[in-house]
Amino acid sequence: MSGATTLQRVPFVNLARQIERLRPELVAAFEAVLDDRAFIKGPHVAAFEAAFAKALGVPHAVGCANGTAALSLALEAAGIGPGDEVIVPSLTFIATGEAVCHVGATPVFCDIDPDSYTLDPEDLLRRLTPRTRAVVPVHLYGTPADMGAILAIAADHRLVVIEDCAQAHLATYHGRTVGTLGTAGGFSFFPGKNLGALGDAGMVTTSDPDLAESVVKLADHGRLSKYEHDRIGHNQRLDGLQAALLTVKLPHLAEWTERRRRIARYYDARLRPAGIKTIVPPAGADPVHHLYVIEVDDRPAVVARLAASGVETGVHYPIPLHLQPAFRGRHGYERLPNAERAAARVLSLPICGEITVEEAAWVCDRVLDTLHPTGRRGG
Ligand SMILES: *Cc1c(COP(=O)(O)O)cnc(C)c1O
Repeated sequence: MSGATTLQRVPFVNLARQIERLRPELVAAFEAVLDDRAFIKGPHVAAFEAAFAKALGVPHAVGCANGTAALSLALEAAGIGPGDEVIVPSLTFIATGEAVCHVGATPVFCDIDPDSYTLDPEDLLRRLTPRTRAVVPVHLYGTPADMGAILAIAADHRLVVIEDCAQAHLATYHGRTVGTLGTAGGFSFFPGKNLGALGDAGMVTTSDPDLAESVVKLADHGRLSKYEHDRIGHNQRLDGLQAALLTVKLPHLAEWTERRRRIARYYDARLRPAGIKTIVPPAGADPVHHLYVIEVDDRPAVVARLAASGVETGVHYPIPLHLQPAFRGRHGYERLPNAERAAARVLSLPICGEITVEEAAWVCDRVLDTLHPTGRRGG
C-alpha cells in the first residue's frame, strides 16, 4: 500500500484537514453568533450543553472556560478545599495537579500502571491518609482508568471521584461513558483534543443536580441574580461562540473516534509483532486513542530520526508531576518508578480523526525502519 505513495510528511495532528471540511458550517455558526450577539450564556451555550449531555448519556453538563477550570470547579463544588489531600496520578498534563492547588487542596501524587499508563489502584491505597478526601483518575491518552477498582476504594474511604476526561470524550468503561462514572467529570475542548474548540473551552458532567448547580454558580461569579452574589466564584464561563462552533463539530465526534480506533488497531497490528510496547487498556475499557503511545530506548535519537524522515511525534509527558519544579516543596519527595520510567520512554505517534490508513502505513514503515527491534518489518 505504501509503495505507491508520494507522502513526504505526516503531521502529529491534522487540524487543517478537519477545518477545511467543516469551514462552511463553522463560518455559518460564527455568523449566527454575530447576528444574535449571544456572546456570554444564551442559546448557543445551552444547546451545546444539552447536546453534549445527550451524547454522553449524563443528566447534567455545565460548560466552562477550559478543562483546567472544569476540574477545579468540580472539586470546589464537591466541597474539596484547604486541608484536604487529593490523589492524582503523576503521569498526566500539569493541569490535573494545578486544579487541586487552585481550590487550596494538596495534590498527592500516585504511580501508574505500566501497561495502561493510568492510575495504579494499589498505589492509590498506599497514598491514603486521614486527610485524603478525593481522587482524580485521568483517562490518559483516551484510555479509561481502572474505574472498577478505583470506585471500590473510593466507596470504602468515602472519597470524591473527579474524572479527568480531557483526553477521553466518548471512551467507555464496561459500556458506560467516562465522565458518568465518578462524582463528576471534567472535559477539555482545547483545539487538539478529540473534540476541540477554536480556542479554550471545557465542560463539567455529573448526575448530581446540586453539584451541577454549584458549578453553574461558581463559574459565574457566585451569582444569585444579576448583582447579588452569595458565594465567591470565578469568571470561568463557556462563551457562546465556542459553544456554537463545538455544536457544529460534536456530530462528527463519533466518526472521528471510529477513525482513531481503526488507526490504533492498524498501528497495534504492525508494531506489536515487532516487539514494540504499546498501550494495554484495563479490562472493560474501550479507549478513544487521543494519543497513540509507544515506548522507545534513546528517545531523543528516535525523535530526531523520525523528524528527519517526515514523521512528527510528541512526548506526553517528559516530566512526571511529582518531579515538576512547580510542585517542589508542596509534598515529600517520593519515587514513583513506573511514572518515571514511562516519562523517560514514551513517544506519541501521529493520530487524529482525519489521518488516513495510508498515512498510518507510511508512519509504521518509518518507525520500523528507525527501531527495527527484531530486524524485520512486521505486518
Ligand atoms: C488538556 C488537559 C487538561 C486541561 O485542559 P485545558 O482545556 O487545556 O485547560 C487537563 N488534563 C489533561 C489530562 C489534559 O490533557
